[in-house]
Amino acid sequence: MRRRMLVLMTAGVLAALPAARAQTRAFNVFISVDMEGLAGVVTGSDVTATGPDYAHFRDIMAGETNAAVAAAFDAGATGVVVRDSHGAKQNLRPSDVDPRARLLRGQGTGPKNMMEGIDETFQAVVFIGYHAKAGTPNAILEHTSNGNVVDFAINGVSLPEGGYNALVAGLYKVPVVFASGDRALTDQLRVLLGPIETVAVKEEIGGDASLGMSPQHAREAIGRGVKRGLDRRAELKPYVLAAPYTMTLKVRQERPLYKGAERVGPGESRFTSANLLDVLTAFNAMK
Ligand SMILES: [Zn+2]
Repeated sequence: MRRRMLVLMTAGVLAALPAARAQTRAFNVFISVDMEGLAGVVTGSDVTATGPDYAHFRDIMAGETNAAVAAAFDAGATGVVVRDSHGAKQNLRPSDVDPRARLLRGQGTGPKNMMEGIDETFQAVVFIGYHAKAGTPNAILEHTSNGNVVDFAINGVSLPEGGYNALVAGLYKVPVVFASGDRALTDQLRVLLGPIETVAVKEEIGGDASLGMSPQHAREAIGRGVKRGLDRRAELKPYVLAAPYTMTLKVRQERPLYKGAERVGPGESRFTSANLLDVLTAFNAMK
């Protein structure tokens, strides 16, 4: 009798566990979407509100975004936040975004910028439409934050936007699992972040010229890649550098020194803090 009860109880517990876990374990995905690395984008006017083809590239941005959102829900996500990360952050038309996702739109005041909204409630980060850092050869629209930055490094590691944005996610122990952009971007982020999933939607073949996937093919490849990355999230590590963080910033046009920063050469400044977000505040002030 005792033995039989034990068996029944055990069976009951086992049967109840999966459903309870599925209901209580949050799986939130943060998707940061830039424009330079979208399928077909080759010049600044493609991603500038006054450009002749901007409306077309907005549609492509929404298509790649929604491919990532759909893949996140296919992978079991319980929530998705999309961060519009380009320029003034008003590129995605809210009604174009998959209604299952929440959209973070507009310029914030804090240092997280393209990662505004990330915190410890997320389990994975996805980058869509990203581009390589300033000075990268064979890259489309390569730059770091704005046209003034020559190089941005933390603790001697030169970082693209995808690098310092991954560091922000790493503060909350959230790994980047996927990035799309041109070939230079995907190569650069795999060297920096490790074996994340990537899709190179295009490749620079000299000057502004690029050879790439159709928007439809890019959406399909991004959907498959995001699903693979999210399925592998347990094996992908958050990106972290050891505190304290020493920023070395090289710019073309010097700005006034941020409080606590020192000038170390022409156009070159240094700032150290144990708080990464303070370093990014200094970066935003002097870039
Ligand atoms: Zn951008």
